[in-house]
Amino acid sequence: MELWFTEKHSPNIGLTLKIKRCIFHKKTSCQQLDILESLDYGKILLLDGLVMITERDEFVYHEMITHVPITAHPDPKSILIIGGGDGGTVRECLKHAGLERIDLVEIDGEVIDACKKFFPEVSQGLNDPKVKIRVEDGIKFIKGQHKNYDIIIIDSTDPIGPAVGLFEKTFYQDVFNALNTDGIVVTQSGSPFQSTETWLNIFKNLSSIFPKTSSYLAFIPTYPSGLWSFVLASKTAHPIKDMRYDYARQLGARTKYYNHAIHKSAFSLPNFLSTQLTSNGQTYIDHLHE
Ligand code: SAM
Repeated sequence: MELWFTEKHSPNIGLTLKIKRCIFHKKTSCQQLDILESLDYGKILLLDGLVMITERDEFVYHEMITHVPITAHPDPKSILIIGGGDGGTVRECLKHAGLERIDLVEIDGEVIDACKKFFPEVSQGLNDPKVKIRVEDGIKFIKGQHKNYDIIIIDSTDPIGPAVGLFEKTFYQDVFNALNTDGIVVTQSGSPFQSTETWLNIFKNLSSIFPKTSSYLAFIPTYPSGLWSFVLASKTAHPIKDMRYDYARQLGARTKYYNHAIHKSAFSLPNFLSTQLTSNGQTYIDHLHE
């Protein structure tokens, strides 16, 4: 008998993977948590039936959500990760010796426990002494923070369930208040091909609060359409012009997807996306190369 898993990206489109077995299956206080073992993509973490990470392609997402903001910032010391319970973003943060404080705020502690047990390669950094973990709602946590972080990474599920509030303007204002004067925030912003409206709303909400807002892309085969996006908003830094070039070059020796050339090219958007964006009245392309 053959076993197959399908994630429906829309009523008419899905991703199907051949499965060896189901390793873990539990309803947590927040969501349905499943771990499957696939033939071609290794172990897969599902939350409410949606692919969160696979062993084969998680490095793309975690490297791009982490190294782009860190190399764009002049000298980051403190990072807040909201979500990220699998530990992949923390693992990538720990490649930066200059970081002194890495705080993770994850609403579901059972995601952390399951990933520590079944995804050791991804969650390895969660036990590092630099990392402080809080199991609580990031929406509430952020309200108590003022000028406390250099970088904030929103590594959450899509805007459904507990994550809905992480994509709203009020939350982004709280993020702005929690960032230091040269702070940068990055959020995963879904597939601009599959869910263009969601991506556009995230960009518009952030650009209504931050003076510099850009979006960049990466290829993640197990995410809807394979074209995935991030939105980066900063109080001062330009994500390309202010990139620490030599530092980014050296980092490339310790990554599998990110490098200094990818950092720059990822911000170049195809016309069907860039023509929908303006930043501070400039067309997206002019804003990027201002
Ligand atoms: N790479 C994935 C993606 O792009 O969809 C994200 C993976 S990570 C496992 C997503 C995490 O966000 C989940 O563990 C979920 O529990 C957490 N999360 C969702 N809403 C949250 C909230 N309001 N506060 C903190 N964590 C939240």
